[in-house]
Amino acid sequence: MNTRDTLKTGKNGHLFIGGADCVELAEKYSTPLYVYDKKYIEDICGVYRDTLEKEYGEGRVLYASKAFSCKGIYKLIDKLGLGADVVSGGELYTALEGGISAQKLVMHGNNKTDAELKFAVESGVGVIVCDAYSEIERLSALCESKDTVQKIMLRVNPGVEAHTHHFVQTATPDSKFGFSMMNGDAVRAIELALSSKGVRLIGLHCHIGSQIFEKESFALAAEKMTDFYKKIKDELGYEFEALNLGGGFGIYYTDDDKKLSVEGYADYIRVIAQTLKKCILKKGLKKPFLFLEPGRSIVGEAGITLYTVGNIKNIIGIKNYAAVDGGMFESPRHALYGSRYTVVAANRMNDKATERYSIAGKCCESGDIIAEDCFLPELKRGDILAVLSTGAYNYSMASNYNRNAVPPVILVENGESDYLVKGQTYEDIARGDADCKLL
Ligand SMILES: *Cc1c(COP(=O)(O)O)cnc(C)c1O
Repeated sequence: MNTRDTLKTGKNGHLFIGGADCVELAEKYSTPLYVYDKKYIEDICGVYRDTLEKEYGEGRVLYASKAFSCKGIYKLIDKLGLGADVVSGGELYTALEGGISAQKLVMHGNNKTDAELKFAVESGVGVIVCDAYSEIERLSALCESKDTVQKIMLRVNPGVEAHTHHFVQTATPDSKFGFSMMNGDAVRAIELALSSKGVRLIGLHCHIGSQIFEKESFALAAEKMTDFYKKIKDELGYEFEALNLGGGFGIYYTDDDKKLSVEGYADYIRVIAQTLKKCILKKGLKKPFLFLEPGRSIVGEAGITLYTVGNIKNIIGIKNYAAVDGGMFESPRHALYGSRYTVVAANRMNDKATERYSIAGKCCESGDIIAEDCFLPELKRGDILAVLSTGAYNYSMASNYNRNAVPPVILVENGESDYLVKGQTYEDIARGDADCKLL
């Protein structure tokens, strides 16, 4: 467990987050329950914002809001001086409703619809990151028809692909994202953008992966991108004014991952800033406005999910299942890609862990497991479990599978709590069900 001032065991042996007793939260709001620690989000955003300013200068941290999107989080992010990136009309709508100014938004997506482009342009989104020739053309035509010019970046694939524990440079990029920098696609896209009157190309964007601990991967991406900026300057006589290096900073899930303090996360940005400054000096480029887009690392460790233990099944000699009142409908990451988590018994943190459990969800799928290999005290029905580091890519990927309701999301600070998102009711689940005239 990556403990901190706002995530620790209290004197009564209960887990506390943001000064609130998790057992009391479970009673008050019922379970499953997503809980976010406001101070953690404030602290890490402050660290990112200040480190970028101090180590680099002109730039903006964008919260990659696909990690966790709701009106409240945009409101908080805006207050903390960050912008946000959005990847769909729905995220854009929510961000605007949350009160972020459109100028501070960057719109991504490998297949934006005409309606999404129109919505983005009409809202005055700061930058749209284009990811296809036809998108540049469609967007330019749209802007010309409205007598406006949209700032854009192009998503490129720098041939650096990073994973949690290693990174590789791919020679033959096969990603669905980005124009390849290796085979001429990116140059063609730049030429197209530069000759399109409705758009103004300000720079390139790359995002090399997610849950990456190795800072050299980000440094390598900065190097490759500035190499390419130099090439474009030399060959096309065009110099970019901005650069977006994406997100992907790794966070703590289990003891196999690095345990970073909030301040420790500054190192990702420090390494990127220092490498970039060195590169632009060496290559004689003008200093680009730098965008960075962390998502997971802003909300991941800030969030935990609380459950109540239900049925327990001990298959002698094979494994123990503890089933909880949640599942892949609100915690899909293990079922989707085998993600691992740290799980604790929030109502008796000081009891010795003697058993190994698989934490099963309540959905009708054998693959509906929330976490495997969890060492816990011998569990009883009614125990409260906390799965840690669930703040990113859980609520945002939740579904109504088996017509389960998406649980509420609360924010905690100094022992106080309130809803960020209310839990769904059965009526909410069935709201869109229509009185079909064919029946
Ligand atoms: C997902 C994504 C991010 C954020 O990645 P994290 O791993 O959550 O930090 C940033 N930029 C783009 C374009 C992305 O697709």
